[in-house]
Amino acid sequence: MPQNLLDLDLQGLTAWFGELGEKPFRARQVFHWIHQSGVADFAQMTDIAKSLREKLQQQAVVQAPAISYAHTSADGTRKWLFDVGVANGIETVFIPEDDRGTLCVSSQVGCALECTFCSTGRQGFNRNLTVAEIIGQLWVAHHSLKTEPNRTTGEIADRPVSNVVMMGMGEPLANFENVVTALGIMLDDHAYGLSRRRVTVSTSGLVPAMDRLAERCPVALAVSLHAPSDALRDQIVPINRKYPLRELMAACRRYLVHAPRDFITFEYVMLAGVNDQPEHARQLIELTRDVPCKFNLIPFNPFPDSGYEKPRAESMRVFRQILQDAGHVVTTRKTRGDDIDAACGQLAGKVADKSGRVLKRMHKEAA
Ligand code: SAH
Ligand code: SF4
Repeated sequence: MPQNLLDLDLQGLTAWFGELGEKPFRARQVFHWIHQSGVADFAQMTDIAKSLREKLQQQAVVQAPAISYAHTSADGTRKWLFDVGVANGIETVFIPEDDRGTLCVSSQVGCALECTFCSTGRQGFNRNLTVAEIIGQLWVAHHSLKTEPNRTTGEIADRPVSNVVMMGMGEPLANFENVVTALGIMLDDHAYGLSRRRVTVSTSGLVPAMDRLAERCPVALAVSLHAPSDALRDQIVPINRKYPLRELMAACRRYLVHAPRDFITFEYVMLAGVNDQPEHARQLIELTRDVPCKFNLIPFNPFPDSGYEKPRAESMRVFRQILQDAGHVVTTRKTRGDDIDAACGQLAGKVADKSGRVLKRMHKEAA
């Protein structure tokens, strides 16, 4: 089996080159070609000696997951569906805004944590993505967007992806080593050079892994809270039974010592009649009293047989106001790319036996 060079960070590539009898600076050159220039064909790496190029051709590949489908919605949101050989694949979404471009990246096929309102969780766990499959999502997005003029300004952006959020399919901290290696490549100046503040891991609250992330690769952290009490969170985010709120809040405080930002983002999916009442907002203020934080309220994105409903606009408004009156910064997630099922964090939402359907619909739209 040839070595897929997308599986290696610079340290790994340097070690692998060492085994080939090649110097570290050669590894650096190839790493630049792959990640900064988006070149997968060794023959095009013109400043590399021909003998090394031939060696690489025999023993290595640069292989991102194959694109099953790519589509751009009316508001410029773009979605890729990647074939990873199992289930219905994984999805990656790019959300362009005036001052940034955010890529929403998947970390697993399915998810074992079974949050009741999440269609990925309902689908069950299939497998962890490899480093190549995780970083490959950025590699594909970055290099395909780089060649296109911006839809509004007409300019070609040097760095179309300025932010990454690990909010696609899967629980990133349950695929710890591969995610940390991929994050390292995102941050590496020899590759994408993204700022730690602009790379966000979203977790449902795997406490020991939050501590390990603080040590190994402290990027911005979003915690999927969704409930202000253990009684309710035990029901909708079952991992809470293992790591209850008191431990989760303590882990957030410990994380902040290392974090690149001085707050944790708490995500809160609003489920009509379940967790969207004023008393929940008040309990939330009490719960997070000792944790510097911002709140991101996400209206529930419905899927068939979910058993939940979208919150009323008025409940969202009142909930938000209560948090704001207590001095909190609150954002409400804008729904983008609705027409292509690309609302971030609700990806592959439509999964189990579903991508076929999604695809059909997209084809219809595109036609
Ligand atoms: N597993 C990680 C990251 C992926 S999910 C986590 O749970 O944080 C990204 C975000 O989308 C999470 O906050 C998750 O709770 C939210 N989400 C999942 N299903 C959703 C749905 N149907 N509607 C709205 N948000 C949802
Ligand atoms: Fe997994 Fe996150 Fe979905 Fe929960 S919300 S099932 S942790 S992907």
